[in-house]
Amino acid sequence: MTEQDQTSLGNPQEIRVTHLEWSVNVDFEATIFRATATYQMERVNAKANVLNLDTSHLMIESVSNPEDGSALQYKLVKNEKEHLGTQLSILLPPGAKRVAIAYRTTTASSAIQWLPPSQTAGKRHPYLFTQCQAIHARSMLPCQDQPGVKMTFDAHVTVPSWAVSVMSGVLVRKDEAADVSVFHWTQKVPVSSYLIAMAVGEITKKDISDRCAIWSEPALVDVAADEFAQSEEFLQIAETIAGTPYVWGRYDLLCLPPSFPYGGMENPCLTFVTPTLLARDRSLADVVAHEIAHSWTGNLVTNATWDHFWLNEGWTTWFQRKIMARIHNDDRFLDFDAIGGYKTLQDTMKEMPTQYQSLVLPIGDNDPDDAYSSVAYEKGFNFLYSLEKRVGKASFESFFQAYVKSFASKTLTSEDFKDFFLEHFKGNSAVAGIQWDKWFYEPGMPPEVPTFDRTLSEASEKLAEEWVDVDQKFAPEPKTDIKGWTSPQITCFLDSLQARTASKPLKLSTLKAMDDQYNFSQSQNAEILFRFCEISIASEDQSMLMVIVYFITSQGRMKFVRPLYRALHESEMGRDLAVDAFLKNKDFYHPICAKMIASDLKLTVAKPNDDVVDSSSDSYWKMAVLVGAVAVAATFIFSRRK
Ligand SMILES: [Zn+2]
Repeated sequence: MTEQDQTSLGNPQEIRVTHLEWSVNVDFEATIFRATATYQMERVNAKANVLNLDTSHLMIESVSNPEDGSALQYKLVKNEKEHLGTQLSILLPPGAKRVAIAYRTTTASSAIQWLPPSQTAGKRHPYLFTQCQAIHARSMLPCQDQPGVKMTFDAHVTVPSWAVSVMSGVLVRKDEAADVSVFHWTQKVPVSSYLIAMAVGEITKKDISDRCAIWSEPALVDVAADEFAQSEEFLQIAETIAGTPYVWGRYDLLCLPPSFPYGGMENPCLTFVTPTLLARDRSLADVVAHEIAHSWTGNLVTNATWDHFWLNEGWTTWFQRKIMARIHNDDRFLDFDAIGGYKTLQDTMKEMPTQYQSLVLPIGDNDPDDAYSSVAYEKGFNFLYSLEKRVGKASFESFFQAYVKSFASKTLTSEDFKDFFLEHFKGNSAVAGIQWDKWFYEPGMPPEVPTFDRTLSEASEKLAEEWVDVDQKFAPEPKTDIKGWTSPQITCFLDSLQARTASKPLKLSTLKAMDDQYNFSQSQNAEILFRFCEISIASEDQSMLMVIVYFITSQGRMKFVRPLYRALHESEMGRDLAVDAFLKNKDFYHPICAKMIASDLKLTVAKPNDDVVDSSSDSYWKMAVLVGAVAVAATFIFSRRK
């Protein structure tokens, strides 16, 4: 079912795009794409003759009918809400089924990050990668930028001959010319615009199975291939749990430079991951299980709008934990991981505005980036797990398979989910009394919490208790040797310690004793270092400032940098330092990350000047009017969204 999506200025309820033919010339010198997007369309309303697309900071050069090359009239209207961008309205000739838009991106594109050679491992060539979720695809190509619209695509990407292009599709072939290469890609499973992704750079790959390869810069490819060596195994387990085969053909994984803003992004055929997962012990591979899970929940079965983001992320978190429990062949791992997730959710509730604490997010026409948090993931997981506890594990897992089968290649809302669930379990008394409205619409922590099996977290929690005793009762330091502990056990210890010291931070002497024993400040594991930095900031430990600043300026994963910038900014010792470190390094971060940190620190960051787009839109329209389109203009109705 399609809901009106207020985060898009497109009109799929009238005319819907169904296939994209995309030619992109990557210009590293100007840091722009010169491109043509040719769409096939389907008229939902037979009388409709205007196609509306989303754009943001794009320079539209021409719009034409690809059948005869004739120019088509169009208009650009900038929305008053900047994150929504500029609506491109194209007047279509009767019966037209295709339209071609020649355009170029500008340096203000929020989807594309252009890295100078200095920000790559190889230091020889520049690099670019894109990140379109949630509504940034419009700054890369004109499109109906809403998850409710799915399309297939073919792409032709021209890059300098030293470079390799990778995409969220399957490679058809590569052509070589004098000093460029052209990579031809196809995606035959319909996808939403937020899943179109590309990276270009000095990239190489290492195969780990017939359908899986690990891509990265040459210097990191062996390390990355070893870290993610279990991907094929994860994929096979995921197929068993989902009850349907993996439909995307290849499953490749691209390990990006350090400014990649997320842990992973589930781009079809090619998961993007942060190098902060390279712990050298495969201990952070649950992120890969998460991205693989998205091949079913998210990419195949998709939230109708960002208001229902939990259907993507809650399901995927549930699915990821099922995969990891099977890898360990022990269901207690699911609960162990969920305990950590519950702590993350508690932390999130302290930061997020009440408005975005509910499962169904009332985003309206606001920026979905502002609504993004662990709520969709962890409250979503807890909801699904509470349903599983009601009906039993076997019944719920077979319900999951029915759900995937029924909604594959479709999109759905929370109400669609509820209807499907109740229909599936019709007559089952266990589903009576589910507090649907409380779960869906009320802010705050979940209305009911499944009881988690705590046997795997006991040792971690006990150790945390002992360190609190050291701090408060001058007890002797615990002698527990954690060398053999897995990184989730250690992060569980640190989580538990944080929860116990939330109102009374640890003394500096306690922190020092702990670090002398465990060496957390030198940890190569980003999850461990992150938590130790948080604990140190809470204790105003100035001896950790250099470590903290290095950590938040050498990688740009929002999960780590945003809470640390915020905590530093709120601390006595780091208020000015946080602002200073950000301003000195803001170009290092991906535009989405820079925007979010600036907002966390209450700063305004000047954007690259590309206002040329808006002034030209007027002159294009005036030109159209001059060539006799006055009558056409009169029939145009530009409805502004509420
Ligand atoms: Zn996810």
